[in-house]
Amino acid sequence: MCPLVLLSSCFVLGFASPLDNELAPNPVDLSYLGPSIFGEPRESKNLEGWDENRPENPEELGEYAEGDILFPENARNGLVSKTTRWKDGVVPYEISPFYPPKDVQMIKRAMEIYHKYTCIKFRPKTASDKDYLSIVNGNTGCWSSVGRITGRQEVNLQSPYCTSKVGTPMHELMHALGFVHEQNRWERDDFVTIAWQNIKNGHEGNFKKADKGSTDGFGVVYDYRSVMHYSPTAFSTNGKPTIVPKDSSKNVKMGQRDGFSRGDIIKINTMYGCPNKPPGGDVVGGEVSGGGGGGGLLSFLFQIVN
Ligand SMILES: [Zn+2]
Repeated sequence: MCPLVLLSSCFVLGFASPLDNELAPNPVDLSYLGPSIFGEPRESKNLEGWDENRPENPEELGEYAEGDILFPENARNGLVSKTTRWKDGVVPYEISPFYPPKDVQMIKRAMEIYHKYTCIKFRPKTASDKDYLSIVNGNTGCWSSVGRITGRQEVNLQSPYCTSKVGTPMHELMHALGFVHEQNRWERDDFVTIAWQNIKNGHEGNFKKADKGSTDGFGVVYDYRSVMHYSPTAFSTNGKPTIVPKDSSKNVKMGQRDGFSRGDIIKINTMYGCPNKPPGGDVVGGEVSGGGGGGGLLSFLFQIVN
C-alpha cells in the first residue's frame, strides 16, 4: 500500500515508461473476427443522407466487419492475429489533399485531444517513415484496420459524414492504435442484452463476442460511454434497439462521439505505457466534463492528491 502522500508517484510508477517492444503487453487477439476482416474498400451510398440527427453513427453504417473494420487483402499473409502497437506511441500520418479545410481541422482536432490526454504522438510522416496512416476521403465510408499493420495503412474518413463529429475520427484512430469495439468484449452479456430479433438480416456477425481472454479491458470495467461503443440502434432493422443496457435504472448513454470516456484514456495510456494521469471525468469536446468518469475511489483519491 502506498501512503496517501505518495499515492500520486506510486500510481505513476504503476505505468511503465513508453514501451519499446511492438506487441502490446496484452494485445487484442483479432482471430474472433475471422477472415471477414479482409477485403477491399467498396464504393457505397450507405452514408448518403446521413446527418448528425440520425441515431446511428456513420461508422455503424458500413458493410465491413463490425461495420468499420477492414484489413487490406495483402495483409492476410503474415498478419499476426494479435494487434501490433506503434513504437513509442508515435504514429506518422498523411492526410489526403482531397479534403475541405474544415475536415482537416476536425481530423487534427481529434489528434490534439489524443495529444492532450495520452502520450500518443501523431505527426506528419517523413520520407524515412515506413509505417504510417494515410487518412483518405474515398466514397467508401468510415473504416480502419486495427493496430499497426506495416507499410502505408489507410484510414478512410468519408467527407462530410465521418468528419461531422470529432468522435468519429477519434474512434477510427483508436482502431488504428489497436482497439476494438467495446460492446463485443467477451463479458458484455453481463452489461447489455443484444436484441437479436431487431438486427438486420446478415448483420448478426457484427455482434460476435471476442473470445474470453482474447481482449483486455486494461482494468477498465465495461464502459457504456466509450467512444468505441456502438449506438443503441446499431444495425437495427426496425429502428428498435439492438443493444439494451442490463441496468435500466442507470442513465446509460451509448454510442457517444463527443470525445473520450475516462475509461478510453486509461486504456490507451495503459496499452502504450503513457505516464499521463487519467482525468477526473469524461472528455467532451476536448475538455474534461464533470466527474462522470466513474473513477470511483481512484478518481476520488486523485482529486485529493492533486
Ligand atoms: Zn469501429
